[in-house]
Amino acid sequence: ASQRLKGIVSFQPVTQDGKEIELGANISSLKELDVALASGTNGVGLFRTEFIYMDRNRLPKEEEQFEVYRNVAEKLSGRPLIIRTLDIGGDKKLDYFEHREEENPFLGYRAIRVCLDKTDLFKTQLKAILRASAFGKVKIMYPLISSVEEVQAANRVLSEAKQELEEEGRAYDRQIEVGIMIELPAAVMIANLLAGEVDFFSIGTNDLVQFTLAVDRMNDQISHLYEPFHPAVLRMLKMTVEAAKEAGIHVGVCGEMAGDLRALPIWLALDVDELSMSAHAILPIKERLLCLKQQDSRSLFQELLTCRTSLRIHEMLAAFDNGLP
Ligand code: PEP
Ligand code: MG
Repeated sequence: ASQRLKGIVSFQPVTQDGKEIELGANISSLKELDVALASGTNGVGLFRTEFIYMDRNRLPKEEEQFEVYRNVAEKLSGRPLIIRTLDIGGDKKLDYFEHREEENPFLGYRAIRVCLDKTDLFKTQLKAILRASAFGKVKIMYPLISSVEEVQAANRVLSEAKQELEEEGRAYDRQIEVGIMIELPAAVMIANLLAGEVDFFSIGTNDLVQFTLAVDRMNDQISHLYEPFHPAVLRMLKMTVEAAKEAGIHVGVCGEMAGDLRALPIWLALDVDELSMSAHAILPIKERLLCLKQQDSRSLFQELLTCRTSLRIHEMLAAFDNGLP
């Protein structure tokens, strides 16, 4: 199988009827970048930057971060690199950071909430990312956005970061794109409002499933309730992509569902622009994509929307798969 997959490394990811989807990688270390490059990745759709903060016993300096981001940007030689700003809290704690005890860490002090509270930390990261944008097609992505105000507040810090770089005479991409993760039900419900504030969306299905179903993604006791193919989740995905299309912005997916073969017809039907996944999923997804037709996926999705249960959705997706050559 791996020999067969190697044969498609340089193929364009396109369906039988001509729908192209960028297949990118999620990376959380430099080693993963090498695997992604060997799989012919179209870019990095999610660079999880937490490891740069976890590898140390103090906050990483602007220069240290810049070196890492620039290195990744250069290795991608012009392919897009979406750098997600710090997403600590929840399950990811820094030893040297004052995390208080929280009853509900996943609903707590985390991600963009920390960054908008500790704006020095945030601005340092933004400056490092901006400087790397002079070396490749770098984009910025904010995690866990729940409101327009948060996007605007984050963008104010970004403007300050740009201003400081101007004063220091440092180069950066003045057209740098800024996007957000759609991973909270609130963000889905106001996706049309958020779309007016940003250049792109990336759907974070891991958190979106967790919050839509109120099922802690780390709790084994209820893992059977963690159901990406729930009718409620399908509707969330549809709303988000439709809002992005309406506003004419790019929309991708970067949760685990992006690399799930069963979900591929859903992404085709919704007509998403990009799927970003762990590097080892890229070639199997591309192989399947090459034999699908977007038109067939659209008919299937119409039927999925009539399903009353997740079980029925799974059955229909499995029947669709079995009908493939
Ligand atoms: C997500 O929530 O889907 C996601 C991609 O981010 P993380 O898994 O890092 O929370
Ligand atoms: Mg997330």
